[in-house]
Amino acid sequence: MALKILDSCINCDMCDPECPNEAITLGAKVYEINVDKCTECIGHYEKPTCVSVCPIDCVKPDAENVESEDDLLTKFINLHG
Ligand code: SF4
Ligand code: SF4
Repeated sequence: MALKILDSCINCDMCDPECPNEAITLGAKVYEINVDKCTECIGHYEKPTCVSVCPIDCVKPDAENVESEDDLLTKFINLHG
C-alpha cells in the first residue's frame, strides 16, 4: 500500500529529497504522499526510505490505499520503465 504522512509532520523536509519516485510534496499544511507514485520504495530500497529518515515516525501505512507487492512492482515499472 502507499504510505501516508500524518498531521503531526513537522515539515522538516528530510523525506522529500529521499523519495526515489518524487512522491512527496509539501501540501497545504504538511508534506503529502502521492498515492499514484508511492511504491513503498519497492524496486529501489528494501524498506520505505521516508519512514527511515523521518525523525518523528509520522509516516504510516495508508489503510485507504492497500496494494499488493505485485501492484507496487507494476507501479514501479510504469513509473520507471
Ligand atoms: S515509501 Fe518510498 S516511494 Fe513511498 S513516499 Fe516513501 S520514499 Fe517515496
Ligand atoms: S521526515 Fe517526517 S516530519 Fe519530516 S517532513 Fe517528512 S514526514 Fe514530515
